[in-house]
Amino acid sequence: MKSYRVIESGAPLIECELNIPTPKNSEVLIRTIACGVCHTDIHIHDGFFDMGNGKKMASRLKEPLTMGHEIFGEVVAIGESVKDIEIGKKFVVYPWIGCGECKSCIEDNEHECGPLTAQNLGVSVDGGYGEFVLVKDPKYLFDAGDTPDELAGSYACRGLTAYSALKKANPKLNDKKLVIISAGGLGLLAVKIAQAAFNINPIVVDIDDAKLATAKAAGASEVINSLHEGAKERIIELTGGGATAVIDYVGAEASVRFGYDLFGFNKNGLYILVGMLGGKFEVQLPLMTFSSRTLKGVYLGSIKEMAELMELVKAGKIEPVPVETRHISKVNDTIAELKAGKIKGLVSLIH
Ligand SMILES: [Zn+2]
Ligand SMILES: [Zn+2]
Repeated sequence: MKSYRVIESGAPLIECELNIPTPKNSEVLIRTIACGVCHTDIHIHDGFFDMGNGKKMASRLKEPLTMGHEIFGEVVAIGESVKDIEIGKKFVVYPWIGCGECKSCIEDNEHECGPLTAQNLGVSVDGGYGEFVLVKDPKYLFDAGDTPDELAGSYACRGLTAYSALKKANPKLNDKKLVIISAGGLGLLAVKIAQAAFNINPIVVDIDDAKLATAKAAGASEVINSLHEGAKERIIELTGGGATAVIDYVGAEASVRFGYDLFGFNKNGLYILVGMLGGKFEVQLPLMTFSSRTLKGVYLGSIKEMAELMELVKAGKIEPVPVETRHISKVNDTIAELKAGKIKGLVSLIH
């Protein structure tokens, strides 16, 4: 089978010919139909996260690795103990697979399994930039209903992360005080999921007017370019005195510096950090205490949250966002464009 693999950090992926795995026991073999490309792929490809002050942290331990974690495909073979899974049926794959033995895994938070023990598809084990993917158990497969093939896989990473962060922000009906930073792929999915799951239309912040126009068309109640003068004041005004929650899907030094000031005089402001663009941030300690503010990281989402999200997806409640499709052979150009900030929405690679 054809696979596009990281052989050397940051260097172009190499097209390799590998043996097709044979599923054993509870394993399921999926033929990849489409695989989304998301910002996490940049860090996995680079081999590190930017920790600020020139410091780096490893983003993966395996090399060579077939990347690709937003996988949609069809079942082509099953292990001997798998029942009730039809060959030919198409599924989204939940890629955040843990060791099954640690505290996080036992409590059904497999996405929080440690970096040395996790078996995350496309991150720690081979993923969807290969023609076939071996999945440990059918419990990781989710029906996406009539969702377009090229969009479905994105619900397992960007959609799930958007949903999990929104759930933690816990917006009330008709909430006008939730601000989302990013009008990119993740931000757009978040706007659609906020409408379907929480019946709200958030304010969306970005630095790119074209992306903001797309977010407005997708249902953002207001869109703000954070580079414009008076942007913070405008948001304080729109939220009637300040946000109650800010979800930062970018996670850059500039986005946090901007977003952390959007609470006005509100107490109990909740800053949810999701994106991992990187860097560091200085916190003024008395302000944190005085305003009872919370700075919270949200990493992916649990399998239970995935099930909740996929119920909405399957029922057709989440309006699909447009996805550009490219052939898998264009993977290197796609990653380069994503790194250069040239990709405006979602891109999916088709096998
Ligand atoms: Zn574990
Ligand atoms: Zn992702």
